[in-house]
Amino acid sequence: MKPFLYTQLPGRVVFGAGALDTLPREIERLGAKRALVLSTPEQRKQADDVARRLGDRCAGVFPKAVMHVPIETARAARAEARRLDADCAVAVGGGSTTGLGKAIALESSLPILAIPTTYAGSEMTPIYGITEDGLKKTGRDARVLPRTVIYDPTLTLGLPTGLSATSGMNAIAHAVEALYAEDANPVTSMLAAEGIRALGQGLPRVVAEPRNLEGRSRCLYGAWLCGAVLGSVGMALHHKLCHTLGGSFNLPHAETHAVILPYVAAYNRVAAPAAMTRVARALVADDPAAGLFDLARRVGAPAGLREIGLKEEDLDRAATLATTNPYFNPRPVTREGVRALLEDAWLGRRPA
Ligand code: NAD
Repeated sequence: MKPFLYTQLPGRVVFGAGALDTLPREIERLGAKRALVLSTPEQRKQADDVARRLGDRCAGVFPKAVMHVPIETARAARAEARRLDADCAVAVGGGSTTGLGKAIALESSLPILAIPTTYAGSEMTPIYGITEDGLKKTGRDARVLPRTVIYDPTLTLGLPTGLSATSGMNAIAHAVEALYAEDANPVTSMLAAEGIRALGQGLPRVVAEPRNLEGRSRCLYGAWLCGAVLGSVGMALHHKLCHTLGGSFNLPHAETHAVILPYVAAYNRVAAPAAMTRVARALVADDPAAGLFDLARRVGAPAGLREIGLKEEDLDRAATLATTNPYFNPRPVTREGVRALLEDAWLGRRPA
């Protein structure tokens, strides 16, 4: 066995249908007396329910989280936390709401209790992102890692199927890249394979029957594991490509992940055989790339980059931008290789 380094991230998880009932106990355990509840405007009702459950331990609700944490929103939320003398942030929602909690914690070290309602997995990572002047700056800081996470699948029953599918494929992408990461280790690989397996089983069920609690539970469990590996090891070509396509061509975040993933798996298939065998096995597929493609199609994710707004004439520039700076990937990243990958992804061809 090769020697390895594994950093166990701290954090307490309460998982299961009805887990939200443990909120008073969990907030008390954190010693918080003045929690600030965060949500998007769309999830105000869920935030109000959380506030009600907190009773006199709730200092207020800030229902203004938006995608990619604009600095103005972060400043407003920080000011509200100071004004209310909050001693904890309770984030109920997806990656955008958790991200707002992280922006507060980054400045104030306030503990975060996260109640995730999508499969983004941000609640399991010490990674934060704040957008200023149209540029999203990300970083790692132990202070932003939530102290407690309550996963209650009943809160995800209303997550629209389109968002469930793309958010789930996005989570799987973290796990696929974790399996061949430069700093991969047996523990994160075990979590990654189990995360892919759980989402591979859960997503088709959820898309066929959105209120199926068993399917929802499997997906949320898978999302937890995929988020945990994103927080522990480095990512590679897939994340670089999605970052380029999102940042320079304004393609939607989760959809881009869902489209690109099978083609990156095909690109790395020969260079990372052990990782790819685990991906295929987790999906009960003969081939990892085709297995990911089939899963994405089955759950209704977009078929190709052209469907989500990339123009054919942008392929050259995208390939250049994604290969300008060197980064780790199991197979050397070449401009020609990435150009061919992007063309396949643009057309939405099933990987051979
Ligand atoms: P999101 O948080 O932006 O949510 C999308 C929409 O769905 C929002 O309107 C939200 O209110 C709504 N929604 C969420 N859960 C719902 C539910 N159960 N029922 C009905 N509506 C619901 O989307 P996301 O995909 O969770 O998060 C994306 C963001 O998270 C991106 O900015 C991404 O960069 C970030 N992210 C960060 C990390 C990290 O480690 N820092 C990891 C993954 C994603």
